[in-house]
Amino acid sequence: MPNMPNGKAAGEHCANLDPDSLNCRIWGRADYPEFCRGFLPEADFCGNSRKDALQILTLMEADTQAQKP
Ligand code: SF4
Repeated sequence: MPNMPNGKAAGEHCANLDPDSLNCRIWGRADYPEFCRGFLPEADFCGNSRKDALQILTLMEADTQAQKP
């Protein structure tokens, strides 16, 4: 199963995300990442729809993007 040893860049899909179903391919498995285990969905982050979640995530990524020297 794919992994991302160097992390995931902003805007890049996780290697474990099935692009057709948008489900996690390793959910519930022993190699499911600790970070993902600790993430609890909440309205402030997820909104009320996938569209809301993508808009919020896009804003957060822009707000936390590293500054280029
Ligand atoms: S839950 Fe974690 S491992 Fe699964 S697709 Fe999302 S970020 Fe990737």
